[in-house]
Formats: sequence, structure tokens, C-alpha cells
Amino acid sequence: MINMAYVCIHCGKEIKSLEKNSTRCPYCGYRVIAKKRSSLSREVSTD
Ligand SMILES: [Zn+2]
Repeated sequence: MINMAYVCIHCGKEIKSLEKNSTRCPYCGYRVIAKKRSSLSREVSTD
């Protein structure tokens, strides 16, 4: 199983419970959320 988490790019807090219809940070209300992948075994550098 993969722990998919989200990170607010504004305040940098980790968002674990993201609602379906609202993609905004519950802490600061920012609407840009980045996906955070667990980089334990692999490092993928595609950027
Ligand atoms: Zn935030």
C-alpha cells in the first residue's frame, strides 16, 4: 500500500484527509495542493 499524502505549497503542512470536491488546504485555505509521494526506496527526478 502506498501512503499518498498531500502538501500545501503555501503553508507546507501535510494534508492527509483531502476532501473530494474541495482541493484546498484546511489550514490556510490555499487552493494549490501538491502531491507528496513517499520517497523511501526510489528517487525519481523527472523535473
Ligand atoms: Zn496551507
